[in-house]
Amino acid sequence: MSLSYSITQITSTICELMDLPFPKDADIDFIDSVMKVFNDKNIDKIDKFLFYAPDAIGKSLVKKFPNEFDKIRKLASTEVEMISVYPTKTPVCFASMLTGTLPEVHGIQSYKKNVLYQLSLFDSLVLGCNPDNVVNVAVKDSTLDLIFRDRPMEYYSEKYDKQVNDRAIQLIENKDFDFILVYNQEYDDSLHSTGIESPQSIAAMKNHVQSFIKLVKVCETNWSGYNRAYLFAPDHGAHDDPETGKGTHGEKIPDDMEIVHFWGIYKKRD
Ligand SMILES: [Zn+2]
Repeated sequence: MSLSYSITQITSTICELMDLPFPKDADIDFIDSVMKVFNDKNIDKIDKFLFYAPDAIGKSLVKKFPNEFDKIRKLASTEVEMISVYPTKTPVCFASMLTGTLPEVHGIQSYKKNVLYQLSLFDSLVLGCNPDNVVNVAVKDSTLDLIFRDRPMEYYSEKYDKQVNDRAIQLIENKDFDFILVYNQEYDDSLHSTGIESPQSIAAMKNHVQSFIKLVKVCETNWSGYNRAYLFAPDHGAHDDPETGKGTHGEKIPDDMEIVHFWGIYKKRD
């Protein structure tokens, strides 16, 4: 059994890496395997952060398709087993991940996409960075398009994953961002309509792997003079419902709760 961390530990870990204040109530038990890589590289702080959030990519996919995830490991080699929060629904999980709190604290305990006023990673970024350099790029009306609104930062709502990723690339290439969150949802959409391992869903999973790789490569071209970090961070897993044959999530079972995150931490090239 390997040690798993809670998704509530992500916010404070990023704050510690970027030398930001912790949001009130956030779990401040850092992910020590990530901190060890950071400390071993003798980095004082991370200046640029890419947070890639692909919806519903569970640990079972990482185990079943190792060659796909090896492509991610080449760029983000610190692999961390994580446990999500219950109920394993997108707004509940991303709210926990980005506030560092449990659902009963942040208040989203079901599939509700209301604006969250619990202090979050974004509030810490706005305090600790130039707010113009903090950006969230998401599919229109998705969880991550909606629940962290009302902060003085940059938001882009796009039609679907391709437009989200094109926008993110354009922003990384043309503007000096310190933190960029990129949300993609094709795999989640596909699992609900066709099952978790249908050809369409596997193609969607591969699209997320390729999108992350492409984004990291654009960052590497533009951010080499900075200390930088890349995170591949899905919110929960999924399982097939034996009655419908289609995918779903929301339960407190390993297929829904267990995920794997990948961190890449790089020191600036002098
Ligand atoms: Zn989700």
